[in-house]
Amino acid sequence: MTFDCDLFVIGGGSGGVRAARIAAGHGARVQMAEEYRMGGTCVIRGCVPKKLMVFAAGHGAALDEARAYGWDVAPARFDWAAFRQSLDAELSRLEGIYTKNATAAGVTIHHQRAVLADPHAVRLADGQTISARHVLIATGGQPVVPEGFDLPGVMTSNELFLLDELPKSMLIVGGGFIACEFACILQGLGVAVTQFYRGAQILRGFDNDLRHHVAAAMGMQGIDLQVDTDLVSLEPLGGGRFASTDTRGARREFDAVLFATGRAPNTQGLGLAEAGVHLADNGAVRVDDWSQTNIPSVFAVGDVTDRIQLTPVAIREGHAFADTVFGGQRMQADHAMVASAVFTRPEAGTVGLTEEEARAQGPVEIYRTSFRPMQGAFAGSDIKAMMKLVVARDSRRVLGCHIVAPGAGEMIQIAAVALKMGATKEDFDRTMAVHPTMAEELVLMRNPVATE
Ligand code: NDP
Repeated sequence: MTFDCDLFVIGGGSGGVRAARIAAGHGARVQMAEEYRMGGTCVIRGCVPKKLMVFAAGHGAALDEARAYGWDVAPARFDWAAFRQSLDAELSRLEGIYTKNATAAGVTIHHQRAVLADPHAVRLADGQTISARHVLIATGGQPVVPEGFDLPGVMTSNELFLLDELPKSMLIVGGGFIACEFACILQGLGVAVTQFYRGAQILRGFDNDLRHHVAAAMGMQGIDLQVDTDLVSLEPLGGGRFASTDTRGARREFDAVLFATGRAPNTQGLGLAEAGVHLADNGAVRVDDWSQTNIPSVFAVGDVTDRIQLTPVAIREGHAFADTVFGGQRMQADHAMVASAVFTRPEAGTVGLTEEEARAQGPVEIYRTSFRPMQGAFAGSDIKAMMKLVVARDSRRVLGCHIVAPGAGEMIQIAAVALKMGATKEDFDRTMAVHPTMAEELVLMRNPVATE
């Protein structure tokens, strides 16, 4: 049977674009559909604009710190409108690069929605049907607002980047990556942030010491972090303002409300179930280690599969799929020991097992240090850094590394190489320190704080 193309990719985000480009490089005839903007969540309304906002907020803190270093800095004001203009221009530039790179690789892009018509065909919004030997679902995810709170005017991370002006006060609901990052960013840009988290401590799933350190640092920046607190009701006051009541019985008013309560796979109305593709209860596409669904011609990568919701993971999955199916090299994305960073202030970086996970596997030694980094201490800041190694007592392998510090995202990337290689505590010990840095503490922790 002949097909219009060898691969049709639905979704022009990180995973889809990588798969399309690599497949085209292997000689496949590739087509792609993207209904919104090329680049997907990461480039258009996720990692990239978020990180640029982290930089913007960081400059405010740096200006304050500069005074302690002898600079005569006049009171400064953050101009959101000016920043947004530059942000929009930068995102358009990156979108252009994504489009250009895919097109240059030989990928035909349809700027419209596509749905699966059958295991070997997609249907475009304009009515065209295109047959494909293989179809890749790379449609990502979208923010979820808890039932009953999806009121006009409430925001998710999608809307945040499109604000015309910054509110004076904001309620952020949630305690995960997005909630904590935006709490720090917005507080840093001058918004008075209150954060509700329904559990006992933010960043569930991360190492407990890391969670406590991040929460303490957030409090020291003035974020009003309310744990064990959930929303009961939201009363619209007009103009995006809301009055909240919470499970502690308090009533508060906010200029804006942001829900960062998780993301769900984008599979609604995509024709997957109708074509026989198995979906999980939350709508995620079920795939095996080769990113293949139960329908042999249909594959899926990235957030839509709800494995690990991180851009580099989606990219690896897309690359491995293309190498396997079109490159004659059987490749799998390795989901073990995936490092990640939460861009709070200070940042949190993590790789490997938490102390709690490691203890469940066997005896461990815990090495931990906490200190005021030189740069901030000089300027009078009490915000502390924390570094922690979780070591298997018998094999001596470092099973987990957890860092809360300025630049922790950069540090954890390097530590991840060591852990992935199976480094032992003694490998860390015989590595000479780089002085004076914060990261040197990682190789200078001599005595365990806990052994069992
Ligand atoms: P997360 O899953 O990280 O966090 C969701 C938060 O919302 C949790 O604290 C959760 O609480 C809470 N929550 C969920 N449902 C409700 C509810 N009904 N009422 C109140 N609270 C609720 O999701 P995010 O949206 O923050 O981020 C999605 C994913 O995107 C992340 O998992 C991450 O993989 C990725 N991401 C990565 C970033 C990075 O690498 N720096 C940055 C941003 C996102 P509970 O813990 O109790 O379930």
